[in-house]
Amino acid sequence: MEQGKIKLAIVTGGGSGIGLAITEKFVQAGIRTVIIGRDIQKLNNTSEKLGDLCIPVQGDLSDLNAIPALVSNIISQHGPVSILVNNAGINQKKIFTEVTDEDFQRILLTNLTAVFSLSREVVKHMLEHGGGSVINISSMAAQYGIPKVIAYTASKSAIEGMTKAMAVELSPQGIRVNCIAPGFIATDMSSKALDNDPERKHKALDRTPMGVLGLPADIGDAALFLAGDGARYITGVVLPVDGGNSIGF
Ligand code: NAD
Repeated sequence: MEQGKIKLAIVTGGGSGIGLAITEKFVQAGIRTVIIGRDIQKLNNTSEKLGDLCIPVQGDLSDLNAIPALVSNIISQHGPVSILVNNAGINQKKIFTEVTDEDFQRILLTNLTAVFSLSREVVKHMLEHGGGSVINISSMAAQYGIPKVIAYTASKSAIEGMTKAMAVELSPQGIRVNCIAPGFIATDMSSKALDNDPERKHKALDRTPMGVLGLPADIGDAALFLAGDGARYITGVVLPVDGGNSIGF
């Protein structure tokens, strides 16, 4: 197929965990996928495994000043982007009174401000090239209260608000904006939070009607759906992919 006819996606944090699973699904569906991350070796390994449709690009999204050039370099080298998945994120488990202002700002910088800056830059190009689809990643932390993750909760709650604000402003111009709220998914991030805290893990699973952790691929499937034409009339939603955790008793 001619390169220009194949859709181009950006997946942040595409070298591991949920981002990697989203990238795998996109590549399997024939979507050229730029994965952005800080560790180029990790990204290169992913690209070697997934093949030419997976394009590694090094970038630290917490460096806001570098984002405009990062986006224009991607577009000048690989063409217009029609899908953006804001997946990269960090977490910190700490009791409320011990979280410093620096801790709080660091989490918000990566999980929220960088998502805004990257989306703004990508959307400018999407508007010039016939629209697109933006997918943000929230969390159960934005559906109900989880202790010891104050900054993460603030960032993910804001992501859901921003999804709706972006959807109403951008949908009339052909850009759908949606959000996936993963439940407890087996990745490095969740194992850091749960593996040495059996009580927390029990609590998470106990209120998950399906009774097991989700797989990164479950989020990949949802992202592929929201990115594609099958979701052409869907915008502004927060889709839980959580085995029922968010409605669990
Ligand atoms: P992960 O730690 O395995 O992956 C996160 C990725 O983001 C990594 O590749 C990391 O390098 C990248 N990243 C972090 N900071 C970055 C930066 N400044 N610049 C570029 N890349 C950066 O975690 P995951 O579990 O795969 O999480 C992916 C997303 O899903 C996150 O937004 C997370 O909050 C969300 N999430 C995860 C779960 C879960 O149970 N695992 C649940 C809810 C939401």
